[in-house]
Amino acid sequence: MIVTPVTELLGIRVPIVQGGMQWVGLPPLVAAVSNAGGLGILTALTQPSPAALRDAIRDTRKRTSKPFGVNITLLPTINPPDYEGYARAAVEEGVRVFETAGNSPGKLIKFFKDRGCLVIHKCTTIRHAKSAQRMGVDILSIDGFECAGHPGEEDVPGLVLLARAAEELKLPYIASGGIADSRGFAAALALGASGINMGTRFMCTVEAPIHQNIKEKIVASSEQDTEHIFRTLHNTARVFKNKVATEVVSIERRPGGAKFEDIRELVSGARGKQVYETGDPDRGIWSAGLSVGLIHDIPTCEELVSRMETKTEEIIQNMQKVVVRAKL
Ligand code: NAD
Repeated sequence: MIVTPVTELLGIRVPIVQGGMQWVGLPPLVAAVSNAGGLGILTALTQPSPAALRDAIRDTRKRTSKPFGVNITLLPTINPPDYEGYARAAVEEGVRVFETAGNSPGKLIKFFKDRGCLVIHKCTTIRHAKSAQRMGVDILSIDGFECAGHPGEEDVPGLVLLARAAEELKLPYIASGGIADSRGFAAALALGASGINMGTRFMCTVEAPIHQNIKEKIVASSEQDTEHIFRTLHNTARVFKNKVATEVVSIERRPGGAKFEDIRELVSGARGKQVYETGDPDRGIWSAGLSVGLIHDIPTCEELVSRMETKTEEIIQNMQKVVVRAKL
């Protein structure tokens, strides 16, 4: 058993949290992760409205009696979402765990804390983590540069960022970005984390509600197969390196740069969603982390979580033997 402040605070068996992925954080996956002993996370903005989020929460409850959470991410969007409406709907449906991420989260964090909820806040710098600590969050999710989606603009990979978190933070934190196996899990614990967050790895499970071709594409890919878009717009996102991502980057590199309007049609989330529906990896933009290089199969969530738990315990025991040998 890997017991940490995170398993105790969240009431889960294994300190593995599923990342709140756009178009992927739907009830079948969320319930499968929670039933496997981790914490599944529904992605609020994947639902077209707060009313649809209510339905998704009820659907998840039918599939699991275990705790699960809801993610709300505050980043630039083509159509501004009703963030407060989503937050209110989830709280009224009885959700008690929230993952917040993105820009200026203060109002949202206060909304949840005023209602007695537990907040995990995801951040990509120690400065933002300390600010979230002051806002009263319960757990930090420290997101290294390896991550899928938005790594921020300071480009600090997990090895250094997590060690800095150990030096600076008072609250328990989970490690996010670049983790897809037991080696990463054990390393995160060694770096002072009380658990891990995995997104891309959970896309490649039997229960992930995305087309089988995309799961197989991830298995066939290496750590060379991601790309950063939106660097020039200061909204960097790590996505799968496909024809659309390459085109976006070439438009951004034109003399004089690009405005968002020049790439809006290529990058829209509505188009990216079709990747997961049709199985065509070149249909639009889709998020993927460097951990694609570590993913070699498509297990059930139960198989994945229990394998990671067992192998991480083995690594920790073997590390103790290394330490003993080193002392002789
Ligand atoms: P969308 O269709 O509104 O936008 C597509 C992409 O363009 C997103 O990455 C968005 O951040 C970016 N974007 C939009 N307007 C921009 C602008 N003016 N300048 C620079 N970049 C801009 O996005 P969507 O797929 O419908 O997703 C809705 C929101 O959820 C977005 O903010 C997105 O970043 C965020 N998101 C969350 C997660 C998560 O894990 N929860 C994952 C992916 C995306």
